[in-house]
Parts: sequence; C-alpha cells; structure tokens
Amino acid sequence: MYEPYKIPMKRIAAWGFFPFCLLLACTEPPQAQAELVLGTICSINLYGHGSPHIYETLFSRLREIERTMSATLEDTPVDRINKNAGIRPVPVPMDLIDVLEQALRYGALSEGAFDPTIGPLVQRWAIGSEHPRIPGALEIEETLSLINWQDVVIDRKEATVFLRRSGMALDLGAIAKGYAADEVGALLKKAGIQGAIIDLGGNIFAYGTKQGGAPWRIGIQNPLSSRGAYLGILEVRHKSIVTSGVYERYAEIDGKRYHHILSTQDGYPVSNGLLSVTIIADRSMDADALSTAAFALGYEKGRALVESQDHAEALFIFEDKHIRGTPGALASLTLQDPQFSLSP
Ligand code: ADP
Ligand code: MG
Repeated sequence: MYEPYKIPMKRIAAWGFFPFCLLLACTEPPQAQAELVLGTICSINLYGHGSPHIYETLFSRLREIERTMSATLEDTPVDRINKNAGIRPVPVPMDLIDVLEQALRYGALSEGAFDPTIGPLVQRWAIGSEHPRIPGALEIEETLSLINWQDVVIDRKEATVFLRRSGMALDLGAIAKGYAADEVGALLKKAGIQGAIIDLGGNIFAYGTKQGGAPWRIGIQNPLSSRGAYLGILEVRHKSIVTSGVYERYAEIDGKRYHHILSTQDGYPVSNGLLSVTIIADRSMDADALSTAAFALGYEKGRALVESQDHAEALFIFEDKHIRGTPGALASLTLQDPQFSLSP
C-alpha cells in the first residue's frame, strides 16, 4: 500500500540532518535527494527517474535562487537592495523582478496584510533565530512606519529595484520558496519527468502524477501536534499545496509562543482564531503567497481573496479544531483525525 507522503518536520538541527545526507548519498539509484537550502530542508523525489545529474541541476537552481533572494546571506541582490534603501536603485536579475512584481500584486490584493517589505519587523522579532525577542511598543510603532509595499520601485526596463526610504528592507520568506518550486517544476518539464514530489520545507509541489496517472496523496499536518501527525489527506494531480500556520516556525519567550507570520497592522504575530491556512493551487508561488496572505487576513477576508483567484482552493483550520474549506479543497480531502470537524 502506498503510504501518504507526509510533510516532514520543517527545521531539523543541522547535526541531525548530516547523517541523513550521508544515508541518501549511499542509496543507489537515488530515490529522494535532500539539501539544506533556502533556509530549510528541501527534498525532491523523482521516484526512480532521477539521476545524479538531474538532481544536481535541480538543486543548483535552488542554490541560485537562494543566492538571489535571501535577505540574510551577505551580498545577495536582496541584501544589496536593503543596504541601498533610501540611497539608490540596485541592478538585479530578472527572476527577482518577476518575484517582486508578484509580491507587490499580493500586497495590493491583500491591502498590505501580505507585505514583502516586512523585513524590519522580521529582524526586530528575530523569530526562528537564536535570539528571538519581543520588541517594545515604541520600537514596533517605528518599525511599522517602515513597512509599505507601495514604496518599492521596480524599473523593469533598467532591471533595478529601489526602496524609497532608508531603513526599509525586503523579506521574500513568504513567496520565494513557492517561486523556487515552480522553477524546479519547469526544469522537470524540460527533462520530460512525469511525476515528482518537490518539498521545500513544507512548501509542496506534487508535480504531474504517480506512475500510471494516479493522484498524489499529500498529508496535511495537524497544527496542534508537534510530532508531525497529519489530520487528513489531499489527493491531487499536478498541484502545489502550501500551508502557513502558527506551528511552522515559532519562538518561545517567557513560556509564551510567538509564531512568524506578523501583522502589518499591529506588528505582533497574527492572532485571529486560525491555526493554519492551506492553499491548493496550480502555481506554487500563488499557493505560497496566498497562504500567508489569507492567514494574515483572517478567515472572512482571506477566503474572499482565495475565491477571487482562479485555480486556488483553501482549507482554514481554526483553534477550535474546526476546518472550513472551499468546494475544490473539500472534494480532494479525506479527514482522518476525528478530533477535527469539517464544513464548507
Ligand atoms: P513558511 O516560511 O513557513 O513557508 P510563510 O510562507 O507563511 O511560511 O512565510 C512566513 C515568512 O514570511 C516569515 O518567516 C517572514 O519571513 C515573512 N513574513 C512574515 N509575515 C509576513 C507578512 N505579513 N507578509 C509577508 N511576509 C511575511
Ligand atoms: Mg507563504
């Protein structure tokens, strides 16, 4: 029997990861390949149709995207844009312009709940780093004044990007992995691969179909379980499935949990009764951006946003263990955990 593919625990300590790499390196022929890139564990499984050469092609594209879009590595184009905020436009590669244009589109669609200029706030909280902290009220207020996607100036002809005000900073953490999954998909298409699972730290692209055309079965993690148990299974063909939620990345400060999706309204982790939002979409970049946007917007506005988009479906999981979903999402979901209830 086919075991449903389960979204793995997102961030495993580097030392736990190392022997895992060795293990994979020894397997012949390669089944799945995993690497620490884009700030998370990225794994790609070509189900027997991979070769060391194709895996290397895919992972080198992921490394290239990280070297372009990371805000934490030194001297990436994004880092250069941030360091030149309020000073001068910075020449950047076209793929960054493509991603930024999409990020600004989601900024507009979500009325700023999703905002790629969230960088200063992400830095102040430092959730997911070794030294997370709670910024003071004044600090939050000052930081919020630096966040506005409308102050990003893209010049497509000159291929430059400029942040209007000094202190502004881009952070593409809510969209870059989706873009990266689409890029891997494009390379798989070129290589004539018929089915694959691309898992970039939980940002899933279930590419093509299983052998013989059967759908993929993707486990949806129970957001209340730390051990990666899943609450249900989605059956999909050639869809991306991306979840944003309170359990993905968080810090514990004085016994309280603070997760990493921040409100551009009040500067604190978003708190609106939702545990997570899962998006199913044709394009992974849309699924990634929409999951963060819908989570930040909350159920009513988030659902309206998803429903306004073609080819996007959503599951909203609430703190009271109720799940609400769009028709397409409910049609592909099999609920497995009886603690959760379901309605349209
Ligand atoms: P994950 O990184 O787990 O895939 P998301 O796609 O939801 O989760 O992205 C969350 C990341 O996006 C945060 O770690 C941060 O870098 C950035 N971010 C946080 N809040 C927002 C926001 N309101 N709008 C845009 N990006 C955000
Ligand atoms: Mg996202």
